[in-house]
Amino acid sequence: MERPEVGELAPPDRLLMGPGPSDVHPRVLRAMSTTLVGHLDPAFVEIMDDVQDLLRYVFRTDNQWTIPVSGTGSASMEAAVANLTEPGDTVLVPGNGYFGERMAAMVERAGGEAVFVEAPWGEPLDPADVAAAFDQYQPDILGFVHAETSTGALQPQVSELTSIAHEHDALVIADTVTSLGGVELRVDEWGIDVAYSADQKCLSCPPGASPLTLNDRAMDKVLGRETPVRSWYLDLSLLQEYWGDERAYHHTAPITNVYALREALRLVAEEGIENRWERHTRVAGALKAGVESMGLELNPDEDWWLPSLNAVRLPAGVSDDDVIEPLLDEHGIEIAGGLGALSGDVLRIGCMGHSARAENVLALVGALGSTLEDVGADVNADAGLNATRRALRR
Ligand code: PLP
Repeated sequence: MERPEVGELAPPDRLLMGPGPSDVHPRVLRAMSTTLVGHLDPAFVEIMDDVQDLLRYVFRTDNQWTIPVSGTGSASMEAAVANLTEPGDTVLVPGNGYFGERMAAMVERAGGEAVFVEAPWGEPLDPADVAAAFDQYQPDILGFVHAETSTGALQPQVSELTSIAHEHDALVIADTVTSLGGVELRVDEWGIDVAYSADQKCLSCPPGASPLTLNDRAMDKVLGRETPVRSWYLDLSLLQEYWGDERAYHHTAPITNVYALREALRLVAEEGIENRWERHTRVAGALKAGVESMGLELNPDEDWWLPSLNAVRLPAGVSDDDVIEPLLDEHGIEIAGGLGALSGDVLRIGCMGHSARAENVLALVGALGSTLEDVGADVNADAGLNATRRALRR
């Protein structure tokens, strides 16, 4: 094997307006370049405490069991699903997007049976359908996706879903990957037993330390399991030795990612969580006004529009590559195409965390309009840009 000739790392400058990761705040990047300490150093133990306190603030919860899971969002997702699902459990999962399917796959691997409550892709679950599915299947757990990144649909009426589950003595797992830190989310008030998330979306961190919170009822189920969790790495009864009072070794924490998360969460706390939700709604609202005034349509209905992820229907005769490639190559802006059932039908434009700023949305709407005009789409780029400007002035 010859010695490879590899040059210095020089990633291009991008504006990240896709489904994640989002742009990282310079303070977070600086935190990542600070010196390493050991994962059991008393100084790191204090950092762990800070992160847990800040995560409770952002999740709006008093749950003692609030931690960053080592790995990306799928790791905290699997930690939630694998620990809560005992072999033989029935888990009701959403059929209205890509990530409900991933949840089902994780349930099956944990030895449970996944059953679906259906809604069209791009629409939320209807509480009446969830209630009917409870009568039909008597599930032990309800999983739902609060912010479906594949369709741009928000799940409203969360308290109604959790009430139905609790009336049937079931636990509720919420996927808050694309909502935490960007869209109103109140874990305790809304009766969510377990919520998992990721840090590269509305928290604007590099991926690697993924928030998870469980209430006592959920943790009682985990600690009282008859069979051990099939994953050693994600077994919360073992992880509690590190993230609980003992602070004993389980695995080496991704220290730099924990630094990054601490700084990103500090930025959320400085801004104020409610102000941050409001900023996402305002800035993404200007994006939405721009694309709609240009002549495009958002895929989801106004009532369940998701500010952090805008799924825009492609105009007739235009493919997603016609838009995605020039935006990246000529404007340095990353957006994405559709996933699963919406593949080829929509563009997915994120408006998350540090990327959710007026100047970014103006750049995006301007570049999108001119790119679409260049490929002959029937849009009015100037009208779009003017609408975004007007919305941002309000
Ligand atoms: N759930 C949702 C709603 C997501 O959008 C994603 C990622 O985009 C995940 C789960 C999985 O997260 P990750 O890709 O960080 O593993």
